[in-house]
Amino acid sequence: MQFTDRFVRELPGDPVAENRTRQVLHACYSRVAPTAVPRPDLVAFVPEVAALLDLDPASGPELADVLAGNRTLPGMVPYAACYGGHQFGHWAGQLGDGRAITLGEVVNRAGEVWELQLKGAGPTPYSRRADGRAVLRSSLRELVCSEAMFHLGIPTTRALSLVATGEPVQRDLLYDGHPRFEPGAVVCRVAPSFLRFGSYEIHAAREDTSTLRALVHFTLARFYPHHLHGEGMDIAGFFDEVARLTAWTVSEWMRVGFVHGVMNTDNMSILGLTIDYGPYGWLEPFDLDWTPNITDASGKRYRFGAQPQVALWNIAQLARALAPLVDDPETLRPCIRAFEREITDHYRHTMLRKLGLSGRRDTQLADDELLADLGTLLTAVETDMTLWFRRLADVATAADARALDDAYYDLSRVGPAHRAALATWLRTYLARAAVESDHPARRARMNELNPIYVARNYLVQEVIEVTEQGDRSALAELLDVLRHPYDERPGRERYARKRPEWARVKPGCSMLSCSS
Ligand code: AMP
Ligand code: MG
Repeated sequence: MQFTDRFVRELPGDPVAENRTRQVLHACYSRVAPTAVPRPDLVAFVPEVAALLDLDPASGPELADVLAGNRTLPGMVPYAACYGGHQFGHWAGQLGDGRAITLGEVVNRAGEVWELQLKGAGPTPYSRRADGRAVLRSSLRELVCSEAMFHLGIPTTRALSLVATGEPVQRDLLYDGHPRFEPGAVVCRVAPSFLRFGSYEIHAAREDTSTLRALVHFTLARFYPHHLHGEGMDIAGFFDEVARLTAWTVSEWMRVGFVHGVMNTDNMSILGLTIDYGPYGWLEPFDLDWTPNITDASGKRYRFGAQPQVALWNIAQLARALAPLVDDPETLRPCIRAFEREITDHYRHTMLRKLGLSGRRDTQLADDELLADLGTLLTAVETDMTLWFRRLADVATAADARALDDAYYDLSRVGPAHRAALATWLRTYLARAAVESDHPARRARMNELNPIYVARNYLVQEVIEVTEQGDRSALAELLDVLRHPYDERPGRERYARKRPEWARVKPGCSMLSCSS
């Protein structure tokens, strides 16, 4: 692998070399090495991500050492990034990479630059009171979900590997006074950059315009060069583009039923990627109010249906952070309004595309009514979102409504009134769809957009449990299924099944916390 060190070379760094918890001022990062672990054991390795890095998968026993943080290669310049963030609507001050350590930036044969970052690699100056480590269950969840998102076609960070460390890590899973030791792990994440909204907010909050300007200049030069004109930076153009990328990604989450769970501004990527997989979840019964994150159970700030609104709030925080760099901050306001329109349009259009409809202007009113009635139908009885849209593609006439039965969690609740309402909706929908295309064409279009295999919470939990016992094959098989999420194949039926009853209230399935 070939490395570069542009981040460290071009941006102001922490002059203090000591690795102890503190406020780090006037700096975008602190140089810090990973802390070694006792027994690195490579649990998963993603060959297609290795290929992005020109990394030979047969790199030998030292591979696990490098991916655990026990050994650095020539050219690696490890560091932890400084950032802040708004957590649950409140400014939290300095956060930073408390357990993530970037090993270096790889330049591949195609000239692409990929940042290699270990999560769970030990304490940094940003660890605050925590241990800098991560448990196997949450590391596995991050690896599986980021790869699943990539194969669904959704902008995301990637994951190269999962290494068990042989070091127990103490966590209180439900924050209820029952801490226990769990196996520790390190996941290696890969992305063009892990810069977040919070990376900019921290310098704006400290009124450190010089560091803020340096970071924005770096961001433009490297990722948005078309907004850099000599030394002149088109901040509004840059902001507008970040907003558009974010609007797209969040509406894509809505398409597949992904709930991020912790949309704090420190978890919002400046490249519009899905980033920081913590207590995320997949919608099983369609429910706009659902959140997997029990830490957020009372306010449900980050519930499924609120994600577009929260993205808007976060975008407004980014505007505030960039404001010191523009003569007139009001020039950013139209971009925020455009974002609001864009995400609303995307979301609506996404739902129509899921139905195989193109969303033409002349059918707007009828489409809105169709979507509103659909929302009522999907929430009247517990209906699995993934299965329902997938099976709807098979429905050619209202008489085929039984094809949807698979999606209901309790068939006994699907009474005559519901069936009648469904039949009415289907007749309207099918008539509307028939104007645009015949059934085979609609089915093909819908199946390209409505996945059959998603990283269902209970499936991942089952894999976690066997992986903790030393099994390696279940994880490999799950990753393999999730590589082809739209491609229904015989022999994979069990991965398409809706959540079993035992998983309804089981921790790790429907209830997750930030404890990871
Ligand atoms: P998250 O909720 O994972 O986005 O993390 C929020 C902040 O807490 C980030 O600054 C993390 O680096 C930090 N953090 C979370 N867990 C740990 C840990 N075990 N050790 C150190 N820092 C952590
Ligand atoms: Mg985070």
